[in-house]
Amino acid sequence: MADRLQNYINGAWCAASTSDYLDVVNPATNEVLAQVPLSPAADVVAATEAAAAAFTSWRRVPVGDRIQYLFKLKGLMEAHLDELARTITLECGKTFAEAKAEMQRAIENVEVACGAPIMMQGDVSEDIARGIDELMIRQPLGVCAAIAPFNFPGMIPFWFLPYAIACGNTYVIKPSEKVPLTLHKVMELIEQTGLPAGVVNLVNGAKEAVDTILDHPAIRAISFVGSSPVARYVYGRAAANGKRVQCQGGAKNPIIVLPDADVEMTTRITMDSAFGCAGQRCLAASLMVTVGKARGPFTEAIAEAAKSRVVGFGLEQGVQMGPVINHQSRDRIHDLISQGIEEGAKPLIDGRNPNISGYENGSFVRPTLLQDVRPDSRIAQTEIFGPVLGMLHVETIEEAIALVNAGQWGNMACLFTSSGAAARKFRYEAEAGNIGINIGVAAPMAFFPFSGWKESFFGDLHGQGKHAFEFFTQTKVVVERWFQDWTRQF
Ligand code: NAD
Repeated sequence: MADRLQNYINGAWCAASTSDYLDVVNPATNEVLAQVPLSPAADVVAATEAAAAAFTSWRRVPVGDRIQYLFKLKGLMEAHLDELARTITLECGKTFAEAKAEMQRAIENVEVACGAPIMMQGDVSEDIARGIDELMIRQPLGVCAAIAPFNFPGMIPFWFLPYAIACGNTYVIKPSEKVPLTLHKVMELIEQTGLPAGVVNLVNGAKEAVDTILDHPAIRAISFVGSSPVARYVYGRAAANGKRVQCQGGAKNPIIVLPDADVEMTTRITMDSAFGCAGQRCLAASLMVTVGKARGPFTEAIAEAAKSRVVGFGLEQGVQMGPVINHQSRDRIHDLISQGIEEGAKPLIDGRNPNISGYENGSFVRPTLLQDVRPDSRIAQTEIFGPVLGMLHVETIEEAIALVNAGQWGNMACLFTSSGAAARKFRYEAEAGNIGINIGVAAPMAFFPFSGWKESFFGDLHGQGKHAFEFFTQTKVVVERWFQDWTRQF
């Protein structure tokens, strides 16, 4: 029988108090890698109580000492980079190179969180009235929690976790039940840092675990990343319970190509954006809008590039694109492609039912290009989360921007051009939280917030960067007077 994963609560690995387990599957082969428990409410409560108990002493550890654990963790993550990346490829399907790049992003967040001694500083004004000073200090909130999606099992927890604990909070994290192995390995590394018991707790599970996190009164702040309907639900329920919440949702990211864009560079970058991680990125290009004369040359170049993409098991040399997460997702993508064709789109390249020799049981879809997608069609408005690029055409940049802004999502929008004036217009007018100019995946570095607008984000403060330090601290304002002879004399 496959290994049964455990939870990590109060500094110890422990079996979940359930007999309800799901298989964790390698999407390239459909082989079972392990089993993950669907932890009941009691396990989340135990993790939260452990975190609440640990908070009293953890917040008193000087910030300079708290970040020493993060320095250690960075070293351990670097030393185990290949092993972590291999685990991501096995359970999530992306290529080994993509998985390594993902872990690198996680490490960058640890580095930025080590800036907490400066980033947690407050403000002071002396003599707001005679002899009276006013201070704004930043204090940790208490127990915070994260709920993660399947597509970046190594990186996304690190948009939050290192900042939370650097600021003096304690933590409960629930990985996606589809990909729990990566965080399990990360937790083993966290354990090796010697972090005090209860500061970080890991609970596996699905809806029941999430709902318990949303309702537990001791949890003060929640970070969620996943699909928009669940993001909206988590935001509503947690906010109604008085918690601080940040919820990142789904996306449908457009790339606009002007006639003056460089054909070779734009094609290469668009391919990587649309088909990297098999299109399972919240910053994947899913619509390509050619403007005016861009249509002919770019359609041809993109079709050539999409056809030649090497698809297979991500641990094999030369593979450029792995499978999607599971059979259910593959079948959903197949159905959406069929629906797009029924709605009038032309399948320039149809990636359904590929034959990947040696991986007949895998969840593969090859790169797919749908031409002449109508902006009002369902395929143009549905997040496919697979390697499918819809192609649209307009005559002017104004029409292209109007099309971007009519969409319900606002995670990312990109423009390819050699005109600075067009770029500025786009940057200024496009309604999306992350903008790329001649960039296909406008992923913010760890020291910038991971922005997102409209249906792609519910909340105020985003993950990463300065926003993270604000999210994981609460401000306290102190007005202070000391009766001493020397303050009275003025
Ligand atoms: P998902 O919404 O299915 O699951 C996310 C998390 O929510 C998981 O931990 C899951 O256990 C939990 N969950 C699922 N259904 C729930 C329910 N009904 N009640 C309570 N909890 C529930 O998302 P996914 O399929 O794992 O991830 C893919 C989605 O995440 C895509 O839509 C993608 O765009 C989005 N995403 C967004 C960003 C971003 O930064 N905006 C980043 C990565 C992924």
